[in-house]
Formats: sequence, structure tokens, C-alpha cells
Amino acid sequence: MCGIVGYTGKQSVAKQILDALELLEYRGYDSAGMAIVDETNGQVQIRKRAGRVADLEKVWKANPVNGICGIGHTRWATHGGVTTENAHPHRQGLVTLIHNGIIENYHQLTEEYDLADHLLSQTDSEVAAGVLNALYERMDHDPLLSIRHFVKELQGSYGFCIMFEDRPGEIYA
Ligand code: GLU
Repeated sequence: MCGIVGYTGKQSVAKQILDALELLEYRGYDSAGMAIVDETNGQVQIRKRAGRVADLEKVWKANPVNGICGIGHTRWATHGGVTTENAHPHRQGLVTLIHNGIIENYHQLTEEYDLADHLLSQTDSEVAAGVLNALYERMDHDPLLSIRHFVKELQGSYGFCIMFEDRPGEIYA
């Protein structure tokens, strides 16, 4: 059972996310990660690793990123082993997301959206990111329209926090 959190506001987000992930530790997990809109350049930066939230904090401290908008995840692996590349967030094109649940039709979606050559992990979740990115491009970067189409494509169970590279400060859940 994973934990999923998003924050956008006025306060520095990294500490908020790390604190929230610590509060979610009771749910059980094998990896942790976060994505933050970097205040220096507006780009979404990902920090993640297999292991504990304390390990993620070390990764972040070694290579900090700060901002006021971000998402965080603790993973309970269902598709793909417990590795840093399989930890969330996942990025495909303009889309960065974290996912709680299982996308049952991810093999079919990988073929339909021709994603195989673009995937860096073995997870169903990264396929979901690829599908949403394709729809977002196809639908003139309209977040709500593309998310509406996106969820119609999915079979399974899911909670998502989603950020789009060209919409800093916004989180879709
Ligand atoms: N199915 C996804 C994965 O294996 C998400 C698992 C979860 O809910 O943590 O990465």
C-alpha cells in the first residue's frame, strides 16, 4: 500500500513532502521519491530511490532542489522490482506523476501508444505517464480534457498526482 502526497502553496515544499511521507510510513513501502518544480528554473526535478524515506532525504540533501510545488510517493511494488528506476515519480515528456494502484491493461497501452522504446522502468505507472503525455500533446496541452480521456483508457485501480512541465504550480489529482 503506497502513500501519495502533493503540495502547492507558499512554503518551501521539500520538507513538507518529506514530513508527509514520514507520516505515511505506517502504510508500508519499499521506495520513496518526490518531484519538485525547481524555483531557480521552473523545471520539474525528480529525486527518488529504493529504500526508506530517510534514504530519500539523504539523496535530496546531497543534491537539493527547492520550490513551492511538489509531489511525493512511497511505493509498494506491484509491477517491476524494488529498484530506484522503478520508484516514483515517473516522467514521460511533459508529464511527471506518482501512482497508487495497478494499471491492468498496461501491456496493451504500451503497444497502442508505441511506448516500449521510451520506458525507463518496468512499472505500469510509467506506461500511464506515457499515455497521458501522448494525450496531452494531442489535445493542445489541455490538462482536464487530456486527463478525462486518460482515465477512460485505464483499466485497474488508481490514484494519481500529476504535474505538467509547462504548468508550474499546478497539481492534478
Ligand atoms: N503499480 C505501481 C508500481 O508497482 C504502484 C504501486 C503502488 O501503489 O505503490 O510501481
